[in-house]
Amino acid sequence: MRVSIICTGTELLKGTTVNTNLAFLGQQLAEIGIVPFRALVVGDSAADMRQALEAAATDSELIITTGGLGPTRDDLTRNAVCDFLGLKLKRDFSIVDDLERRWAKRYSTVAREDYLTQADVPENSTVLKNRIGTAPGLWVKGKVQIILLPGPPHELNPMFQNEAMPLLKKLAVKMTFTAGFMIASISELIVQDKIEPLVKGLPISLAYCASIEGVKVFLSGEDKDLVREKAAEAAKLFGDAVLADNRLAVVPEVFERLKKSGYTLGIAESCTGGMIAAAITDLPGASQVFKGAIVSYSNAVKNKLLDIPQPILDNCGAVSRECVEAMVQGAAKNLEANAAIAVSGIAGPEGGTAEKPVGTVHIAAFLQGEIITENYVFPGSRESIRERAKIRALLLLRQLLMKKNRYRVIL
Ligand code: AMP
Ligand code: MG
Repeated sequence: MRVSIICTGTELLKGTTVNTNLAFLGQQLAEIGIVPFRALVVGDSAADMRQALEAAATDSELIITTGGLGPTRDDLTRNAVCDFLGLKLKRDFSIVDDLERRWAKRYSTVAREDYLTQADVPENSTVLKNRIGTAPGLWVKGKVQIILLPGPPHELNPMFQNEAMPLLKKLAVKMTFTAGFMIASISELIVQDKIEPLVKGLPISLAYCASIEGVKVFLSGEDKDLVREKAAEAAKLFGDAVLADNRLAVVPEVFERLKKSGYTLGIAESCTGGMIAAAITDLPGASQVFKGAIVSYSNAVKNKLLDIPQPILDNCGAVSRECVEAMVQGAAKNLEANAAIAVSGIAGPEGGTAEKPVGTVHIAAFLQGEIITENYVFPGSRESIRERAKIRALLLLRQLLMKKNRYRVIL
């Protein structure tokens, strides 16, 4: 099904509001096999909205708009859509009742006329209930179908899920299915070289998305079984580098491995300042695995809380293999964990030397007495160096976990 999305709101163009509605709709539609082929963002202008509708209607079966349904003068979507489709607005008195009740409860007066414009419904349309806010959504059937959704995400999200999705599912449409997986530590061009021959000549499209964590690969097509089968075959090409269980992020995958094997985790962080602990505790159920973290920024704290011998700090320095080896052991012992990671590095922009430039990061992982270490010189900003250190530390622990307990890649 050819779907385009039009998001309205000058704030989206100025960047004062991030267009989360577009991301949400993309994710929801993907669940029912619809990938919108175009999205437009227009300001609060009737002329611009009209142009966007005209452009979208030339090649879409369905247009979804977000925003501009409220009662203020910059809310123009309802009228723009009616003008475009040549439909009249009719006041829906069941909506009026609801609006009047809300108004009276809040202001104890009779509702203003402009407030009641939210009850104006175009001919040939289905009302999508707004259980959170005032402006209902609308599904308008004209020369093209248009779904009008409100701007506030906390109103749009439940309305789309509860009111629009059941109707969308009923439309007999050609659906696109997507299966994805993530590969840690292999570059995207090499990934592409390996996967392309596998789907050559097949009705499957490939997409790659590279990030600090790795490369996400998505296979899409209308034949669900074929997409699944080829995604499983493609994932096998990369063996252990593929995150298990179709996971697309490193942190939950490593967490799940720890949990499944009954390990407990302790962390010693220096340059990441608690970022790894924060990432783990973002996950529900973290307490089943996570014992705690020691953010040992100064040498004194490293010495006092992690028992790093003073000679290591004096002779090798805090950013050294020796130091992270001692840190990871200190974390495991003092936090009473059987798995641990430790990170110490120079995140910059100052503090680098010829021998240890900005970006130098030492990492250690510990699992039941076994320790492995790595060191890197990461490029980029302070933020990016710290983010890379976080991911690499977890991937290093993953290496140990995989060695101990071969993990089957399930797709
Ligand atoms: P509206 O009813 O269109 O004026 O939108 C009301 C509120 O929803 C404002 O706070 C907007 O910033 C927010 N909003 C509108 N469109 C979006 C969007 N695409 N993504 C996130 N928030 C939005
Ligand atoms: Mg607006």
